[in-house]
Amino acid sequence: MVFQQLESENSAGQKPSDHCAVVGIIGPEPVFPDVLISLKSLQHRGQESAGIATFDGDLIHLKKGMGLVSEVFPDRDQHLQTQLSGPVGIGHTRYSTEGSKTIENAGPFMISSSIGYIALSHNGEITNADKLREELKKKGAVFMTSADTEVMLIELAKDINENGIANGFRVAMSRLRGAYSCSVMINERLFAIRDPYGIRPLSVGKVGNEYIVASESCVFDVLGGEKIRDLSPGELLEIKPDGIDSLFVLPAKKTAHCMFEWVYFARPDSVIDGVEVFGARINIGRMLAKQNPVEADVVIAVPDSGRAQALGYSMESGIPYNEGLIKNRYSDRTFIMPTQKARSSAVKLKLNSVRSVIDGKKVILVDDSIVRGNTIRHIITLLRNQGAVEVHVRIGCPPIVSPCFFGVDMKTKDQFLASNKSLEKIREEIGADSISYLSIDSMTESIGKPADNLCLGCLTGVYPISIAGEKYAFQAELENY
Ligand code: SF4
Repeated sequence: MVFQQLESENSAGQKPSDHCAVVGIIGPEPVFPDVLISLKSLQHRGQESAGIATFDGDLIHLKKGMGLVSEVFPDRDQHLQTQLSGPVGIGHTRYSTEGSKTIENAGPFMISSSIGYIALSHNGEITNADKLREELKKKGAVFMTSADTEVMLIELAKDINENGIANGFRVAMSRLRGAYSCSVMINERLFAIRDPYGIRPLSVGKVGNEYIVASESCVFDVLGGEKIRDLSPGELLEIKPDGIDSLFVLPAKKTAHCMFEWVYFARPDSVIDGVEVFGARINIGRMLAKQNPVEADVVIAVPDSGRAQALGYSMESGIPYNEGLIKNRYSDRTFIMPTQKARSSAVKLKLNSVRSVIDGKKVILVDDSIVRGNTIRHIITLLRNQGAVEVHVRIGCPPIVSPCFFGVDMKTKDQFLASNKSLEKIREEIGADSISYLSIDSMTESIGKPADNLCLGCLTGVYPISIAGEKYAFQAELENY
């Protein structure tokens, strides 16, 4: 096991981060090289730690560490392929919230149980983990970490031990609440599960003789294969060397796919639950232009995730798109800085503007979302210093006003720029000439899914799953009685 303690990253008031990426591969040949490529393709979903577990027929092999995939599994390490041998394996990259950035909490998690080795990679967040942990402790379980994934693994191991594999999964899934898209290796067998609301994405594909489960479909493209399908919400899938077997689908009233996957998290070249991310972002930009037109000379994006939305805005409005902001691709990680000055320098290191695109122009600045507002404030100052005569901000997502309980690091209400503020107050605080957010209706139309089938919790404060002290989607029905 490798343990590279790097200085921890957080976005110093920038974008929210998704918690994890998962992958699982089974085939006739050693799977390590393709698990590694898959994790590198999904690096955007988590940069705190990375890990791979493989099974060679007798033994399980596990290596995980803190840092980027390329830091934990460096190309120069010739021994990795022999250390992580076997025709089945799972992988994980993780983003963690403050206080849990330790190797103990990095995935995949693994235990040796009465039925053999069980290894699990998890994307999401178990909302009743504390309660389950206490119940399991009373039955004698011992926990080594603070991670909800460990609770899930111990629960799963217990339920499989008592009920067999398929029924054990069924029992565990009926007890777990929250968001989970997982790859699970039980000795030489590979499984995938998705929570009954389908909050986080998970799809299965085929590459040559291998079958692969992965958080996003871009993995299948990168490896030269093709997507077979998304997992259904509530589904247990066994992925075998010669095909896939759906063992059951737990019935659910509705889906609650995280809208933020299309708005910001996922790679634009991925297709999630039948909707291409890039296409959804172009639609969002077009909707913004229809909903909030303004006279201007140029449309620019906050790179990289605002690009497609800005392009869509330009297509719809006829105002030319240009590259007005340049991202320093080698400073992807903005380290936690102790002072505001240091934080500001860190943002400057990340983004700069192109004077010839900006000078003397009325600029439309398009971003996918605003959480705390530090970045957009800095960018507007930057644009004005470079000669912009007007800066109109257009945001491809409604205001974020509530925490996320399903695997995204937006935990407290007071961190959000838009909480309890009028649009005019927000405009004033960031220093823009105008600001408009996409409406919820326009966003759901852009994604192409009804609001009833999406999680909109951080926009509305109403969640698809009951959270203590918060409203949930069926509250209105209950309140009518
Ligand atoms: S609360 Fe927001 S970020 Fe969290 S799952 Fe729901 S839509 Fe996604």
